[in-house]
Amino acid sequence: MDDCIFCKIAKGQIPCTKVYEDEYTFAFKDINPQAKQHILIIPKEHILTGLNDVNDDNSYIIGKLFYAAKIVSEMLGIDKSGVRIINNTGKDAHQSVQHFHIHVLGGEDMGEGLV
Ligand code: AMP
Ligand code: ZN
Repeated sequence: MDDCIFCKIAKGQIPCTKVYEDEYTFAFKDINPQAKQHILIIPKEHILTGLNDVNDDNSYIIGKLFYAAKIVSEMLGIDKSGVRIINNTGKDAHQSVQHFHIHVLGGEDMGEGLV
């Protein structure tokens, strides 16, 4: 996807505050944080847009994203106090970037809303 901002970030073509990367995933700070710590974790390859694209062949990547979330949470020291992981897919969820990603939020009490 040539015009995808997250593809460009993963390739180093757009600057970001990188937190972690491995063979499959890339993690960086959200530019508009919704909690004290707000990290986005994406697959390096644009193999998924949203939840609707997940299938038997590519579902392993979801596990890779969650494994990266665990590592990042430990790195940031928010693993013990707790994290919230969110995926927005589609219009009602206000997904704004069409490259599958999970939000990892923490570092403070985030209340009982959503969810
Ligand atoms: P979503 O609404 O789930 O699609 O989330 C997209 C997220 O990407 C939002 O939280 C934005 O703040 C974040 N975002 C957009 N552009 C950038 C960027 N260049 N660097 C870091 N985060 C970004
Ligand atoms: Zn992309």
